[in-house]
Amino acid sequence: MDRLDFIRQEMERLRNEGLFVNIRTIGSPQDAWTIVDGKRVLNMCSNNYLGFANHPELKAAAIKAIEDWGVGPAAVRSIAGTMSLHLELEQKLAEFKGAQGALSLQAGLIANLSTIPALVDEGDVIYTDQLNHASIIDGCRLSKAERFIYAHCDPGDLESKLKETRAGKRRALIITDGVFSMDGDIAPLPDIVELAERYDAMLMVDDAHGEGVLGRGGRGIVDHFGLHGRVDVEIGTMSKAFGVVGGYVSGRKEITEYLRQKARPFLFSSAVTPADVAACIKAVEILGRSTELVDRLWDNARYFKEGMKEMGFDTGRSQTPITPVMLGEAKLAQDFSRRLFEEGVFAMALGFPTVPRGMARIRVMISAAHSKEDLDFALATFGKIGKELGVLG
Ligand SMILES: *Cc1c(COP(=O)(O)O)cnc(C)c1O
Repeated sequence: MDRLDFIRQEMERLRNEGLFVNIRTIGSPQDAWTIVDGKRVLNMCSNNYLGFANHPELKAAAIKAIEDWGVGPAAVRSIAGTMSLHLELEQKLAEFKGAQGALSLQAGLIANLSTIPALVDEGDVIYTDQLNHASIIDGCRLSKAERFIYAHCDPGDLESKLKETRAGKRRALIITDGVFSMDGDIAPLPDIVELAERYDAMLMVDDAHGEGVLGRGGRGIVDHFGLHGRVDVEIGTMSKAFGVVGGYVSGRKEITEYLRQKARPFLFSSAVTPADVAACIKAVEILGRSTELVDRLWDNARYFKEGMKEMGFDTGRSQTPITPVMLGEAKLAQDFSRRLFEEGVFAMALGFPTVPRGMARIRVMISAAHSKEDLDFALATFGKIGKELGVLG
């Protein structure tokens, strides 16, 4: 009997149930084409929506920041880690989002863990969409507030939960993803805003897959619906469309200033590095000066989705560049993904428990970095494998 036997057993269970994650190794920068496990493939897996991950202007900004500022912040933000670079990024993000304030943190996940327990505690209540991101779930677990899960994108169910449980509680917080990463659907934010106002609840939206994608020039979901000033707080990430790494909170100034005093990851974990912050600032600047990349992203998404639908594929309920290709059984999705990879297309299969049973899919992430030729190659390859595996007639 070894005291680590439980690990061996759990790893065996993961393998037996097909849940063991095979972690691939990337051997080149993130781009339209990327070397994956030694093979050059068309990359349809990354969140590199705008091609910023290997953008020459972002790289130059990061290199210059290392020369000017060094490599490490050497402290948490609240002691000696707040450089003027961090404040510049926060100001640029607030302007870009049309928010009163912004706070830079180490990751989007960290931003959720920072914000939720700071806003609600014992005696309070959280209403959270059934398909919210794992980091929202973990943020809720760090709070002592009571939690109610409402049906996915269903304001009717949210309202009945508010009706039943809001009275008698101190503060309430409604939390939703802006864009849901498995289906690419968009939260019905105008309805949720009204419910928040009617039932005196704070409203928090995680815009991780919306910023750089939705709204004018990628300003996000609040801009997309014209709801400026009616969402209390937004969570953002610098690791998806912005192409770097890091997270942030934007919204009402009371909240972003409060978090400088209360957010535990801000107080107890070191600041983001100068190179990352400088690259993020450059990404926000580029988006601020032109909508070209965001327009190309949407053009590419439309082109790919139309091509897939014409061939007879089901792209689910996607309203964004996240394109699920619905296949049903997990085994089929895995075989499909493996065959795509052999033919030079890197796109991930998702099965239970990431998505419900019987709703396995390949998730295709479209990028502005893809050319029309890349998308034609992807469509041809999907068509070929679709016929081979009997998905298409
Ligand atoms: C990806 C994602 C995060 C995490 O962002 P990181 O910066 O990678 O930590 C948080 N929330 C949502 C909705 C996401 O999709």
